[in-house]
Amino acid sequence: MKRCSSKQIEASLKQRILSGQMRPGSKLPSEEGLRKEFRASRTAVREAIRQLQGGGLVATVNGSGSFVSAGQLDQVFSAFSAYSLLIDDGEAICDLLELRLAIEGAAAARVAGQSNSAAVAAIERHLMAMEQAVLIEEFAIRDIEFHMELLRVSGNQLFAMLGKAMRDRYVRLAIDSYRSDKEQQREVTFQEHTHIMNAIREGKPTAARDAMRRHITQAKLRWERVNSKEADKVDMRESKK
Ligand SMILES: [Zn+2]
Repeated sequence: MKRCSSKQIEASLKQRILSGQMRPGSKLPSEEGLRKEFRASRTAVREAIRQLQGGGLVATVNGSGSFVSAGQLDQVFSAFSAYSLLIDDGEAICDLLELRLAIEGAAAARVAGQSNSAAVAAIERHLMAMEQAVLIEEFAIRDIEFHMELLRVSGNQLFAMLGKAMRDRYVRLAIDSYRSDKEQQREVTFQEHTHIMNAIREGKPTAARDAMRRHITQAKLRWERVNSKEADKVDMRESKK
């Protein structure tokens, strides 16, 4: 029988983990056991384990062996935050904004339905901070912090993690949107946030969700408008050459 390559060992172990045959927390066979089972070299077994560790499926505890990981949010966080910062084309950015729409609408509804006064007060502090911002960049950051707080207090840790992973890109998009009509945009944005806040304070989930969705839809339109103007400018410069 042919010796298995590290890729084959990795694929086989991955299949066992993802199919549920090997449960989170369970111990992988020893290096020696895997070497015999797959008729593989020590190097191939180690490489397969290293790949599984890199993908977050396996964690190795020094002296105790390798174990199947439980679902790890920090793995998703690293991958998603890199993705959201690296994407460059308009369509992928619109997809990101649509994801925001789905998550944040649901989060706003959750928070409004919780009647948790500490959570409401925490979000309210961010709204006040937006009002007090002097520079537009500061306003953009505080705008995004309002959203982060809302996701954090929503109680859904996946929402909070995804928001945190997209945070830096959100800030960049928000600052981009303020390249024109700064003051007017600031005023409109603040109003939209106030509507969200009012619905949350009044404990109205549907109104909170709708206000959040309206705000993000408008934010998306503002970003698209500025972006298409920028694209026009580039076109003009190109055609003058
Ligand atoms: Zn906002």
